[in-house]
Amino acid sequence: MIHIIGGGLAGAEAAWQAASRGVRVVVHEMRPVRPTAVHKTQQLAELVCSNSFRGDKLDNAVGLLKEEMRRLGSLIMRMADVHRVPAGAALAVDREGFSKAVTEAIESHPLITVVREEITRIPLDASWFPLVIATGPLTSDALSAEIAALVGGEHLYFYDAISPIVSAETIDMNKVFRASRWNRNIRSRPSDSSTAPLEQPAPSVGCGIDDGEGDYLNCPLTRDEYDRFYDALTTAESATVHDFDKERFFEGCLPIEVMAHRGRDTLRFGPMKPVGLTDPRTGRYPYAAVQLRQDNIAGDHFSLVGFQTQLKWGEQARVLAMIPGLERAEFIRFGMVHRNTYINGPTVLRETWQTKNRDDLFFAGQISGVEGYVESAASGLLAGRNAAAVFQGESARVLPRTTAMGALAHYVSHANPANYQPSNITFGIMPPPDAGVTKKQDRKAAISERALRALDEWMRDDVTA
Ligand SMILES: Cc1cc2nc3c(=O)[nH]c(=O)nc-3n(C[C@H](O)[C@H](O)[C@H](O)COP(=O)(O)OP(=O)(O)OC[C@H]3O[C@@H](n4cnc5c(N)ncnc54)[C@H](O)[C@@H]3O)c2cc1C
Repeated sequence: MIHIIGGGLAGAEAAWQAASRGVRVVVHEMRPVRPTAVHKTQQLAELVCSNSFRGDKLDNAVGLLKEEMRRLGSLIMRMADVHRVPAGAALAVDREGFSKAVTEAIESHPLITVVREEITRIPLDASWFPLVIATGPLTSDALSAEIAALVGGEHLYFYDAISPIVSAETIDMNKVFRASRWNRNIRSRPSDSSTAPLEQPAPSVGCGIDDGEGDYLNCPLTRDEYDRFYDALTTAESATVHDFDKERFFEGCLPIEVMAHRGRDTLRFGPMKPVGLTDPRTGRYPYAAVQLRQDNIAGDHFSLVGFQTQLKWGEQARVLAMIPGLERAEFIRFGMVHRNTYINGPTVLRETWQTKNRDDLFFAGQISGVEGYVESAASGLLAGRNAAAVFQGESARVLPRTTAMGALAHYVSHANPANYQPSNITFGIMPPPDAGVTKKQDRKAAISERALRALDEWMRDDVTA
């Protein structure tokens, strides 16, 4: 028998996979006995926010990830396909129908038992192992403390602070100027990084202000502009407050409106600090400045540095449009601060989703250091298969790194542990296609074809498939 703590997207998929291999499973899910601040139902695999599983085509890394999961018999993908609603090239689902179908499939499986209870301690008794911890970004406090003790408190994180992102082509370039603080620019990067630890994808989290080593677009504000912006910010409406909002924020990650409430000039000494930014049109530092940092390789998205915020989205659009240069900015994503409990994967995990210290202890889902519904379910898929394998006395298996699932596992276990950030699946964390494929669309197609070939071969070798 294996035990799984958490019946979310990862836990439900892990349970299904293990049971499909003939192994008995007990899923311990705390809802409805103990709710989270965000879940609204007692269904397993509840979608806490959007109803989208994102792109569903093979020219998109998350589309490839889904196809791999389908081939591996994913319950989450099967039910998502059954409950899909029209959403263009994306896979979106009827959220209630989807979660209800997953719950029914799990609860009616003869090898799976679902116990509704909060697990507050990591069990010591050998009968609990193999054990998969899949308690998600809202892991209860008691278990979070246990996990912190297990992995080391410095390897467990609690919050994600996300800055808004705007489309580059909607920034008024006549009003902004390009400069780095104190004129320090990006240091040249080595051309061959194949042996270096994997770099983080372009950061989109909001914490931290210009460290002086980037090329930024700067929006200068006069005193009048700053005062008007400040008044609008401090009177704007905040998003619905969840319980976790009452908890303390990290001082380095305060929402801008919280900072602003501390005093009229606080932002001018924080994310709107103008020193070191000479406006070429005046030859002087502006009264205040907002820095925009390139957020993706293509350079068509820029994030507002240090502008994590909990304002309602409509309010963000209204207030941030008062920043010179952003009057007509189109928001690719609005800012947020939300609870996100996750471990530092590279220090704790192997590519099999086993911990480095124990073959029979697994992490899966958002808490393992992946980001997103599909990625969470994908990690649960392999963790569940491998937990079943360990129970049956076999070795856990690694998926080829050329598959999306293998690349995700590789990222979580091999990324640079310094400032580790959970990642969505992207083609950027997969090995590049063979030399000679140069066109962008051809490269994506080549990566996807190679991934599915590798997966099919892997499945042929899998005696338990
Ligand atoms: C506010 C918010 C919004 C998000 N929006 C999106 C989005 O729109 N799109 C997207 O792709 N991703 C989103 N995510 C990220 C992430 O993909 C989802 O949170 C996803 O549900 C993670 O799957 P999971 O299985 O790891 O966790 P969950 O689906 O949260 O499942 C974990 C389960 O463990 C249970 N649990 C927790 N502690 C215990 C315990 N001690 N004992 C027993 N059970 C326990 C919980 O009740 C829960 O059912 C969001 C995250 C948050 C926090």
